[in-house]
Amino acid sequence: MTLAIMGAMPEEIAPILEKLENYKTTNYAGNRYYEASYNGIKLVIAYSKIGKVFSTLTATTLCEHFGAKKLLFSGVAGAISHKLKIGDLIVATQLTQHDLDITAFGHPFGYVPEGAVFVEADKEMIEISKEVAKEMGKSVQEGIIATGDQFVANEERKNWIGETFGADALEMEGASVAVVCDALDVPFFILRAISDAADMDASFSFDEFLETSAVESAEFVMRMVDKLSR
Ligand code: SAH
Repeated sequence: MTLAIMGAMPEEIAPILEKLENYKTTNYAGNRYYEASYNGIKLVIAYSKIGKVFSTLTATTLCEHFGAKKLLFSGVAGAISHKLKIGDLIVATQLTQHDLDITAFGHPFGYVPEGAVFVEADKEMIEISKEVAKEMGKSVQEGIIATGDQFVANEERKNWIGETFGADALEMEGASVAVVCDALDVPFFILRAISDAADMDASFSFDEFLETSAVESAEFVMRMVDKLSR
């Protein structure tokens, strides 16, 4: 079985590559893909670069070119829910594109014909994540993640996204990965550690907490991989 692990930025996959003894690097479609054997399965790992377009390309490549049968995303996100503090983990139950807007035609935000406002993540992996959380003694929140091509550092925008979609966290890649995996029938799991509160201080907080939050998420995802490779 081939399992994909994906991030958006180098910092998000660096802690995962560090855990592997050796891997093969392949350049493909403007990105680097890292392949390794791990616990008897094949891992393929990549960071996509930021945003929906690059993450769509990478998720598609991981599935179609490298043959990934499951995909796990590890990264950081801005919090909407007051229950989420910096370093906390959130597992996406559903993902939506908060910047997709053809409401001029009477459609809801996040919707285009033949699409869906929300895409659901794989329930089985969410269940496994609960076991991992228990074993690690970590509390992990489940919730809706909203994705868009903008770094949200604005209370008003953040609140609008929270109210419109019932979202608990926001980032820039999850929903596009979800759309790809859903279309290709590849079960997917999206985990994010909170790096900021998507408010006025977000960019400051982001730079300060990116690395530590990315490590939190990566460690958790590797525990998931341990369980999935058994
Ligand atoms: N510091 C980077 C830019 C980071 S963009 C640079 O200068 O190059 C933010 C990244 O973290 C995205 O990959 C996104 O998925 C996630 N993210 C974390 N907090 C976010 C927020 N408040 N709004 C949107 N994305 C956020």
